[in-house]
Amino acid sequence: MSGAVRVRFAPSPTGHLHVGGARTALFNWLYARHHRGTFILRIEDTDRSRSTDENITAILEALEWLGLDWDEGPPTPGYRQTERLPIYRDHAERLRATGRAYYCDCPPELLERERRAAQARKETFRYSGRCRDRGLDTGALRLRIPDAGTTVVNDLIHGPVTFDHGGLDDWILVRTDGTPTYNFCVVVDDVTMRITHVIRGNDHLPNTPKQILCYEALGYPVPEMAHVSMILGPDRSRLSKRHGATSVQAFRDAGIPADAMVNYLARLGWSHGDQEIFTREELIELFDIKDVASSGAVFDHAKLEWLSHQHIKRMDASRLAELVLPFFPAVGLEPPRDHAYVARALETLKERGKTFRELLQVGSFYFERPSGYAPEAAKMYFTEAGAARLAAISRRLETLPSVTPEALESLYRELGEELGLKLVDLAQLTRLALTGGTASPPLFEVLAVLGREEALARLRAAQAWIATTARP
Ligand code: GLU
Repeated sequence: MSGAVRVRFAPSPTGHLHVGGARTALFNWLYARHHRGTFILRIEDTDRSRSTDENITAILEALEWLGLDWDEGPPTPGYRQTERLPIYRDHAERLRATGRAYYCDCPPELLERERRAAQARKETFRYSGRCRDRGLDTGALRLRIPDAGTTVVNDLIHGPVTFDHGGLDDWILVRTDGTPTYNFCVVVDDVTMRITHVIRGNDHLPNTPKQILCYEALGYPVPEMAHVSMILGPDRSRLSKRHGATSVQAFRDAGIPADAMVNYLARLGWSHGDQEIFTREELIELFDIKDVASSGAVFDHAKLEWLSHQHIKRMDASRLAELVLPFFPAVGLEPPRDHAYVARALETLKERGKTFRELLQVGSFYFERPSGYAPEAAKMYFTEAGAARLAAISRRLETLPSVTPEALESLYRELGEELGLKLVDLAQLTRLALTGGTASPPLFEVLAVLGREEALARLRAAQAWIATTARP
């Protein structure tokens, strides 16, 4: 291969971006970035009845979220197939003029009859070639393919895959109504966009010999091909909605970090030793299309969540705060204005949530006062004696020179000794007052993050609650 790498991701906007498409996009992007090549985004919207602008927007948004930036593509005009019809027309005309393509006016009913007859014989229908030498100048334009021989796809993942021409026919490039067919558009686009490597799902492998014959007819070199195996569900059938969420947006909305999603998608079929956690930079450095497995990879939701947790744990708290901010309304919390406060809270929560949403769910007490107290624990700790202890804690907290985890630990140790109580009991009592529950990050960290004023307010509220529901 000579010259710079040019790869493309070519989604059909007939739906949102799902994990299979996202992985194809990622492999192309990684390949381009690794080789300092060009990553092109092309919208294959020739199927007008199923393509929508809303889907295009959703696909672009999902790619942006994943951080798969493209070097060429929308909004620059000329990267949507519907904008490229004159280019297809020119190439069709060239093939016709050189005799590599010919017009066919076989009536659809005739072709349909022949198709059914082939089906009845349990054969794949192949166009008979009836119009090959009739010299027509209207109708559907068909590619003249060699009668005998084979076409070999030298796939970078699967090795050579041989297709017998006996299984192919003179396929239609341009329909009678003048619209180009899908396979023709793909070839013309890949040729005119000077694509060097076609990396796509292996559901397109059966199209490839037809496309290769078209490259040859046009007199263009065939790009390198790599067909990535399908993503499977746990039952090893092709991943689909039946297996749960498959759209990239659903994972974004669930609060999976984009870096974790990218890491997970890369590992679906690609590996580097037994390393599981990769940064984007590592992926760019290490990725090679030749290391992609030829067998299908099973989508494992638990592993995605595990990776999500690993990425969250390693994230800088300030960055984490930025990424978590949009999730406040989704979990029913008011987004706080104090970024540094959110970062400090998240620093204590990192270990405790696998997604941004979970972080806020387990740490909601940082952002709103308890609206009640866990009943079993309240029965145990919120007694009159408990109220007196809360008062003692409050008094000491008021005069503590600085509210750090270390100073708080001494405060609790001293008070425990004085009252003849175990540290854990004082801690649980306080935790209940501050968070409304009995599980939270280490208490002194929580207290230090909440700060003196807020902690005192919550301790007072707990004492008031006890006073109204007092038990001896
Ligand atoms: N538009 C096709 C798809 O979304 C991709 C075609 C290709 O990559 O050649 O599956």
